[in-house]
Amino acid sequence: MPTALAVHGGAGTISRSLMTPAREKAYREALALALQRGHAVLQEGGAALDAVEAAVRALEDSPHFNAGRGSVFNADGQHEMDASLMCGSTLKAGAVASVQNVKNPVSLARRVLDTGQHVLISGLGAFEFAHKQKVELEDDQYFFDEFRYQQWQQTRGTDVYQLDHSGGTDDRKFGTVGAVALDAEGRLAAATSTGGMTNKRWQRIGDSPIIGAGTYANNATCAVSCTGHGESFIRAVAAFDVHALMAYKGLSLAEAVREVVHEKLPPLDGDGGLIAVDREGNVVLDFNCSGMYRGHIGPDGEPVTAIFGN
Ligand code: ASP
Repeated sequence: MPTALAVHGGAGTISRSLMTPAREKAYREALALALQRGHAVLQEGGAALDAVEAAVRALEDSPHFNAGRGSVFNADGQHEMDASLMCGSTLKAGAVASVQNVKNPVSLARRVLDTGQHVLISGLGAFEFAHKQKVELEDDQYFFDEFRYQQWQQTRGTDVYQLDHSGGTDDRKFGTVGAVALDAEGRLAAATSTGGMTNKRWQRIGDSPIIGAGTYANNATCAVSCTGHGESFIRAVAAFDVHALMAYKGLSLAEAVREVVHEKLPPLDGDGGLIAVDREGNVVLDFNCSGMYRGHIGPDGEPVTAIFGN
């Protein structure tokens, strides 16, 4: 079966006028690297779950995106990260929320999935689990990014919290990251990782670690990873809704994604988008704002990346 993999690096108000060729090149290279990392796993006959973890790790390691290194600041000036992943063939899932100092939150979520006892763990309990699992930790400095610090200064001390890639005048807005994949054995998987929203309340949890909201995979239909205003995506149960529209209403992947992104999310102030792949390997990358950092790669191994709409 032909493999498929897609990634996103966040959606939001991305202004074409502020995008320099050098910046665009840097973002596209980071997306292409993540696609290649995930594709290499699929090429070797690896599982979709391993491929999405590898792709998301590459995006977490890049300071360009709001996940892992380069995560946004919360209202207390800290980096609190959320991540999840789900396997479409076993329906097993793992997630972590409000974790600090974990280099790759998606891999901690993977340990939660593999351990199998719980689906979602948070805060200090997740940190203790990270210690026990001996996952890589980093000090606060590793996660610091000067641009994001300045971004936080714009809202610090107020009740305003914002998407990493919306508001402000600088276009250096990168977001949550995610990946979806179909492997050679027909298994689907999805993963999502984020620093959340700038100036978010201490221990606020968004959609990214919520199975069904920010992430969902089911071999019967599709795998989905979302990015956008998390509170709206939680209320829309966005990722699961794409699956449900396919499973119960018989919609195609493209029709189901269109309905969620353009009909269901906007009335809930759900700015953002999502990436999805179905069991035939069709890939859909859609959003209801001006841009989404995104890309996909098929069996030919050629990464295709994009930022703006048509
Ligand atoms: N969905 C993420 C959250 O609300 C933010 C994003 O996608 O950039 O935490």
